[in-house]
This record gives sequence, structure tokens and C-alpha cells, in this order.
Amino acid sequence: MSKLYSVLRFKCPRCHKGDLFVKKNPYSFKNALQMPDRCPVCNQDFQIEPGFYIGALWTSFPIVIFIMALLSALLLIYLKMELNTFFITITAILFLLQPIIIRLGRAIWINVFVDFKEES
Ligand SMILES: [Zn+2]
Repeated sequence: MSKLYSVLRFKCPRCHKGDLFVKKNPYSFKNALQMPDRCPVCNQDFQIEPGFYIGALWTSFPIVIFIMALLSALLLIYLKMELNTFFITITAILFLLQPIIIRLGRAIWINVFVDFKEES
């Protein structure tokens, strides 16, 4: 699963060497989502077209749903958490995970359009 590697390591979908994001740390609040225009290694275009990453909403949304489903099962069924506490907890967790979810969404999104190629 080469695409999985690119997504989880936030690497360029084409060469798997260049970084997709300028900052390694998703919690560096400044520039957390800044991406280079092109891959520093293989020169793959990371912007593809203006507003390209608006489409990444379609890939981040299922991640959010998945995390919510997982948390609901864990907090409500296993921990028998009260609904009010549950909503506060789930909001806080999703808020904290937001930078990672957005990065994952974008990494998946660009992998839909760009395939891995060996050195050319
Ligand atoms: Zn590359």
C-alpha cells in the first residue's frame, strides 16, 4: 500500500521522499497547513489547481465521522459517560485532532490524483 505510506508519513504521493507540509509538527500553529508549491525532491506540483484542497473536505469528513463513531462507542458504551460530558469531550478531542485530520484529508486527497512513480 504505497498510498498509505504517503498519507501516513505526509510524503509526496509521487516520490514518497519530499514532505507534503512545510512544518513537520502539525501543532506549530503558524504555517501548520502550509505546503510547498512543488515537491522539493521530484518537483511534483502540490497545488494542482487553485482551491484544490477545498476538495479535501470530502476526505477529511469521513475521518471525522470515523473518529466520532469510535469515540461514541468508547465513551458512551464502555465508559457510560453522560451525554453532556460526552459532547464536551468529543468536541474537545476533535478540536485537538483538527490539524492532523486536515493534514490527513489533504494527503489522501492529493493521493487520489497523483500516483507513485519510480525515479524518472
Ligand atoms: Zn516528490
